[in-house]
Amino acid sequence: MTARILDGSSVAARLRAEIAEQVAALTTLQRRAPGLAVVLVGDNPASQVYVRNKGVATRKAGMVSVEHRLPDDVQETELLALIARLNADDAVDGVLVQLPLPPQVRSEKVLAAIDPDKDVDGFHALNVGRLWGGEAGLVPCTPRGCMKLIVEAGRDIGGMDAVVIGRSGIVGKPMTQLLLAANCTVTIAHSRTRDLPEVCRRADILVAAVGVPNLVTAGFIRPGATVIDVGINRVAKADGGSRLVGDVAFEEAVEVAGAITPVPGGVGPMTIACLLENTLTAYRRRVES
Ligand code: NDP
Repeated sequence: MTARILDGSSVAARLRAEIAEQVAALTTLQRRAPGLAVVLVGDNPASQVYVRNKGVATRKAGMVSVEHRLPDDVQETELLALIARLNADDAVDGVLVQLPLPPQVRSEKVLAAIDPDKDVDGFHALNVGRLWGGEAGLVPCTPRGCMKLIVEAGRDIGGMDAVVIGRSGIVGKPMTQLLLAANCTVTIAHSRTRDLPEVCRRADILVAAVGVPNLVTAGFIRPGATVIDVGINRVAKADGGSRLVGDVAFEEAVEVAGAITPVPGGVGPMTIACLLENTLTAYRRRVES
């Protein structure tokens, strides 16, 4: 059996088009467009690419995108002052600080300073608590995108066994919460898990959010399972160049799984689409409250 490919690029394009339509409808009502402010500290090349892509997608959706670039040696107080200004700015609905931050800046302090109602990354402790408490908050974009791809696989997931490899606050933990809310029986695995392949073989839904290239081989996968590969790993090619691979050994996994996301073109595009969705949600809540 060859798995169905869950094409994140096309699902994300559909979602972005729906969001753009909603934004266009708002602006014809002569309301202001939703605004997203992205803060980039330093010149990390990967962060620069992410920020640029977010800006392009935001503008394409008809929203206002504002980028704030600060030098690598910025002081924490300066960054906190910028966040306070963005929190107070009525034209800004979403505030996103691109991680990682340089060592002189405490990430947890910065994330805690973002107004929870503008926290479109969903990393603020209040939004983490809302997710665990089953309340409506802003949900981290990557796990939200994974859930949309799991739904796309077209199975009724209530009662299914789900295994999430990885327990980060950005992906693994919120992912388990979303699966639990969807009535899955959830196991969270990590670097200390004993017999990882055996744990993973129980999964009807397997989510890999690890950062280890090709960790999940065919022997980890229950035949017919839905496999969501969050990993983005750059590996060297024989010709001296490099390419992106996930945490799942795709070529062999595709022969066992029922549905699987590719890397690139799976979870990655969903993350940005869900950021736009969160920005629109934050806008609606602020305008309509
Ligand atoms: P972290 O490094 O924060 O977490 C990795 C997790 O994997 C940890 O819980 C760690 O366990 C676990 N782990 C590490 N090695 C193993 C192993 N050999 N066996 C089992 N578990 C292991 O990473 P993130 O959650 O931030 O990101 C994970 C991956 O997802 C990365 O490749 C990242 O680039 C990618 N990513 C992709 C996004 C997208 O948009 N597609 C967005 C965000 C991340 P322990 O806790 O015990 O250390």
